[in-house]
Amino acid sequence: MSGDRAGLLFVVSAPSGTGKTTVVERLVQIVPELAMSRSYTSRPARAGESDGVDYNFVFRSRFEELIAADEFLEWAEVFGNLYGTCAADVERHLASGRDLVLVIDVQGARLVRERCAGTVGVFVMPPSFTILEQRLRGRSKDSEAAIQRRLQTARDEVAAFAEYDYMVVNDALDACVDRLRAIVLAERARLRSARADAESIVKTFRQEGSR
Ligand code: 5GP
Repeated sequence: MSGDRAGLLFVVSAPSGTGKTTVVERLVQIVPELAMSRSYTSRPARAGESDGVDYNFVFRSRFEELIAADEFLEWAEVFGNLYGTCAADVERHLASGRDLVLVIDVQGARLVRERCAGTVGVFVMPPSFTILEQRLRGRSKDSEAAIQRRLQTARDEVAAFAEYDYMVVNDALDACVDRLRAIVLAERARLRSARADAESIVKTFRQEGSR
């Protein structure tokens, strides 16, 4: 990979309960030079989550200050809580030539695509509505009302799949991670990403030829 090119920006969306965070965490473990962005949120940390690892957890008032200061590339209200991606973090990461994945909702993904040309969108689908419902109940983190709300939102979100460049089904974790890995590798090989590498190789041929 070239040190010259800016990093690629991927946005991954999926209905809550599809397992997208687990999938992307695995993906960034196995693909070099790829990281997952850490969002800000006003929601309280769940059991097992920690600040600065899963999210940057902030009070709603602090989140609102960050919005007012225009610190977010995008932000959205999801299930009554605020979530946002810090613009400076993304810019810094991409400028260093490393690729970045944002795991954000459909509204946020729309904003990122508008603002960042070349963003690659990937929609992760649950295998079916029934399976999503089983997974949400299996997590048993949420109340029945919260589960119903997530299922209703999921109905709207799956309808947005056509706004994305790729669609993968999370039927089995390893297979889903493999498909995502294939997408990242294919995007890296596209000429818009690989041109600088190709040109520097071509240059070595020119030098050889002029001897
Ligand atoms: P959870 O509270 O279950 O971690 O996340 C709820 C939803 O918020 C998920 O759909 C997740 O993708 C989305 N989300 C997490 N971070 C961000 C963000 O920075 N921006 C937006 N727009 N959505 C986010």
